[in-house]
Amino acid sequence: MDEKKKVIVSGIKPSGDLTLGNYLGAIKNWVKLQDEYDCYFFIADLHAITVRQVPAELRKRSLEVLAIYIAAGVDPEKNTMFIQSHVPAHCEASWLLTCNSYMGELGRMTQYKDKSKNKEGDSISAGLFNYPVLMAGDVLLYQADLVPVGVDQVQHLELARNIAERFNRAYSPTFTVPNAYIGKAGAKIMDLQNPTKKMSKSEENPNGYILILDPPEVIRRKVSRAVTDSIGEVRFSDDQPGVKNLMTILSTITGMTMEEIEAKYEGQGYAQFKKDVAEAIVEELEPIQEKVKGLLSDKKQLEEIYKAGAEKANYIATKTLRKMQKKIGLVQY
Ligand code: ATP
Ligand code: MG
Repeated sequence: MDEKKKVIVSGIKPSGDLTLGNYLGAIKNWVKLQDEYDCYFFIADLHAITVRQVPAELRKRSLEVLAIYIAAGVDPEKNTMFIQSHVPAHCEASWLLTCNSYMGELGRMTQYKDKSKNKEGDSISAGLFNYPVLMAGDVLLYQADLVPVGVDQVQHLELARNIAERFNRAYSPTFTVPNAYIGKAGAKIMDLQNPTKKMSKSEENPNGYILILDPPEVIRRKVSRAVTDSIGEVRFSDDQPGVKNLMTILSTITGMTMEEIEAKYEGQGYAQFKKDVAEAIVEELEPIQEKVKGLLSDKKQLEEIYKAGAEKANYIATKTLRKMQKKIGLVQY
């Protein structure tokens, strides 16, 4: 492996079925990064359990997420692909970093505030509060230079940078301070029913999201029902969040610019536009769905991939963890 390659770390929680947002905002970009960078792509099962999961589903979904990564073109030969809980250093680093994090900074995380909004103070899981620290460990353990994130994760990455700088200052340089890597297009895909809200796999209303594994007819139905407006013109404008979102999706998949899309549908209303968006999504996802099926029918192969990934990841992560322990003053054994 080329020693000079920059390190990239990213993962997705198996907390629900993956959406088009996960695909266009994360996985599709990974495929473009894998040749140029030394990449670690993991299944964030430890993050998924910040919200109670059905055990059998979590297990099944974790493998499904791995299969989706591979089917989408993320190559296990080129990247280190692993399941987070197979690398115990993530939990250990998380505690060491928790002791170097502040309640105040964690309490300011908007995702925590959003997700805990409708819950009583006593019943908000401490994991939900602490998870940005686990995430900081996820990237710092591999000395990541870049973390490809959707706009929704920028604040957490900023926190990881603060924690890294604080640790480096307190003990001596230990961590590379990572930068956010935000893909040009498709940085944020919005909910189809509520286009001012991000498309999310833990959303209750299934019409708001498209799943990577949704059958074509479901995709077509969801797009045809996507909320637009009464303006009736395909224009990339903040006043038309629904249309803007569909344009973002179309542009990210086909590579068409917003100007090209506007010109193509000038004076036509939304019907043909929506049809074309749906077809673009179907064409993009169908081959992935086929490959996922194949991969899931051969559990042995998946097992080999995540075991090899865990071995590589454990080696690097443990090296950083030992450094942290030593600097903090824990007795080496
Ligand atoms: P949850 O609702 O459980 O938080 P999620 O869909 O937000 O689920 P995550 O596992 O939190 O998924 O995020 C995985 C990756 O997908 C992150 O890099 C995140 O930035 C990206 N991502 C998630 N949703 C979107 C979206 N709507 N648009 C673009 N990127 C997204
Ligand atoms: Mg999320």
